[in-house]
Amino acid sequence: MSDPKDRIGAKYEWMGRDELTAFQSQALRQSVTQAAKSPYYSRIFTQADIDVDSIVGIEDVTRLPFTTKDDLRFSYPNTMLTVEPEQVVRMHTSSGTTGKPTAIFHTQEDVDNWAELMARSLAMGGATPKDVFQNMSGYGLFTGGLGLHYGAERLGMWVIPAGAGNTARQILLIRDFHVTVIHATPSYAMHVAERMLQEGEDPKSLNIKMAALGAEPYTEELRLKLQDLYGFKAFNSYGLSEMNGPGVAFECPYQNGLHVWEDSYLVEIINPETLQPVADGEVGELVLTTLRRTAMPIIRYRTRDLTRKITADCPCGRKHVRLSRFVGRSDDMLIIRGVNVFPSQVEEVIMRHEWLGGNYVITLTTKEALDQMTVKVEIAKSGFDGSMLTLRRLRDELQRELKEQIGFTAEIDVLEPGSLPASEGKAKRVIDERD
Ligand code: ADP
Ligand code: ZN
Repeated sequence: MSDPKDRIGAKYEWMGRDELTAFQSQALRQSVTQAAKSPYYSRIFTQADIDVDSIVGIEDVTRLPFTTKDDLRFSYPNTMLTVEPEQVVRMHTSSGTTGKPTAIFHTQEDVDNWAELMARSLAMGGATPKDVFQNMSGYGLFTGGLGLHYGAERLGMWVIPAGAGNTARQILLIRDFHVTVIHATPSYAMHVAERMLQEGEDPKSLNIKMAALGAEPYTEELRLKLQDLYGFKAFNSYGLSEMNGPGVAFECPYQNGLHVWEDSYLVEIINPETLQPVADGEVGELVLTTLRRTAMPIIRYRTRDLTRKITADCPCGRKHVRLSRFVGRSDDMLIIRGVNVFPSQVEEVIMRHEWLGGNYVITLTTKEALDQMTVKVEIAKSGFDGSMLTLRRLRDELQRELKEQIGFTAEIDVLEPGSLPASEGKAKRVIDERD
């Protein structure tokens, strides 16, 4: 049997900076050459007058065209495919949070590499073959199911493919099989905790030691709240179907930003208006190029996810670049009365209140030609004394703090626990009903 350290891709995980750069340059050349075999990129490269052989190192990447979500839609069903159909072993689609889905293809080698990236991520957070892992995300076309599943098996954990939803069963399985590591969306992890509290149970009694939480943006405040409720360590997990799925970036034990696996993804951060790189450390749109995918390489994919590079070295010693927690997607940004607002700004304020629950919904309407924002939030079961006075004080406080954060007054609706729809996968935080 091979050394477990090799099995989880240690040779890539601990590459030095120079080694990584050299590896990336060679992998980029290979990726571009491979991409050119697809009808889509062969046409695009010809149109843009790109000589594939002139791409020598990573500094040449900026000469290549961007790929957008629309380009992927145009290439539907399979004009970005670079191999014979019989070499494909798997396809996925994006979950379609925004519009029509896009199809992504994998060879056996692609699926293996993806599992290795995911195993490496989970191991970095402290998971070992001795752990029992419950995957609480949806299976099927959504990559959070099989992506985590293959990675956890590759690491050698005992895997429970619970899938999304059915909260009572999730809790039962965690208890009866002594689950130590879970994967869920942060909103669903919050829902499970709140359900337990409502039933007079303590989430800490589950003894979960580690959680991989991702697939949607969330704040540091929500992470802290969840860690506090469960007593586990929560690791931010980032990925997108276009780049395989989860396993693109994950946190190390220092929990101070997500290391992007740079042996597999070339990272750029651009200004979405000018399309020029931002200065190191500035917030911009993340652009990724696959470096180790065969069936469907994607060049300079505009993720629309907003983040910044953390330039300082990480104390863990890994040289893979870190990204700060995602602000949201560029298309999540709400323009309310001319003010730019991200749902995460609202979340930050809510999560600071111990008497408020973790679920919330922002509704936008038009009132006398003016944008109106209503924040609906649930009271937390624990700690609340049930008095009207407390309720009113809470509402006023929240209104004032939100105004400080976003600059205008929002309506606040404080509701009974369990009033808002629970999310099993990605939470729907915004309902826009403006004219
Ligand atoms: P869709 O675009 O249909 O949601 P995916 O299921 O591939 O398709 O979701 C990927 C997207 O989910 C990312 O582009 C990002 O917007 C979001 N996402 C995933 N993980 C995180 C995370 N840890 N933090 C913030 N956003 C995330
Ligand atoms: Zn680190």
